Amino acid sequence: KAKSQGLSMAFFSHEMTEHATEMVDLQSRLRGALNRGLIKPFYQPLIDLKTGKTIGVEVLARWVTDDGSIGPSPAVFIPVSEETGLIGALSETMIAQACNDIVRWQQEGVQIKYSINVSARQFADDNFCTEAFAQFERLGVDPKTVQIELTESVLLNNTERSLQKIQELKARGFLIALDDFGTGFASLHYLTLFPFDTLKVDRAFVTNIIEDKRQFAIAKSIINLAHDLDLVVVAEGIETEEQRQVLFDLGCDVGQGYLFSRPVAPDFLSNLLVA
Ligand code: C2E
Ligand code: CA
Ligand code: CA
Ligand code: CA
Repeated sequence: KAKSQGLSMAFFSHEMTEHATEMVDLQSRLRGALNRGLIKPFYQPLIDLKTGKTIGVEVLARWVTDDGSIGPSPAVFIPVSEETGLIGALSETMIAQACNDIVRWQQEGVQIKYSINVSARQFADDNFCTEAFAQFERLGVDPKTVQIELTESVLLNNTERSLQKIQELKARGFLIALDDFGTGFASLHYLTLFPFDTLKVDRAFVTNIIEDKRQFAIAKSIINLAHDLDLVVVAEGIETEEQRQVLFDLGCDVGQGYLFSRPVAPDFLSNLLVA
């Protein structure tokens, strides 16, 4: 028995070493990519389901590699950047580049909202919040056109302090969205605690909304609940015309997903917005 434990320990620690080596490698590659300006904002349209018009975009980080293809997913490199303290530099360059694009679009007469993701670690950092959000104003972007997307996990830690920060941001004009709604566990309570403007129904309730009666029931309830609370509802991950139609019939306000557009580079978005 002792022997088999020893074996599994050895196996475990080998796995750990491999994982640690991969993380160190990814971390140094990410640092390099940041230094060379290869972490860039892409933009995914948010569509008013009644008019079909683009009323906003979500800013999503992309790691563009040397040959122009897309590298690791933000679902991988955002957590790595948080564990290694690179998140500060990452969000600084993301906001700087996004503001540059936004100011240009504003000058071209584009009138849409810009949604920015802020992770739990970022939001918990007081310096980050004051500096990052002052950056928008300094770079000429009106906070009223910026929506900050927060997940429940952001608010879990220190509810009172979170509420304070959200109130400060709202006082400066920023809009606040609750992202990935329905995947956490404290959602309903949080809806009464925090002054959200928008609620984003997680893709988990959209993917099989046609086939799965339970997903349909939950999506329907979330949309009605949000409207009763005077929130704008966005459905994420719409990939088919059938899904769009069902969500429209349920009264969902805004749609986002591959059906309308994948996240695209700024020049490509310019074409979409002007066309
Ligand atoms: P999220 O905030 O929930 O963003 C939505 C994700 O769904 C994006 O993945 C988007 O590309 C994807 N998506 C949109 N429409 C569809 C669809 O129709 N089908 C499918 N299968 N997927 C769709 P992405 O860009 O890979 O980002 C993953 C996550 O990484 C984001 O989830 C967000 O939590 C985080 N993230 C991305 N950029 C940033 C950033 O600049 N800062 C922070 N803090 N987090 C970011
Ligand atoms: Ca988001
Ligand atoms: Ca989301
Ligand atoms: Ca998500």
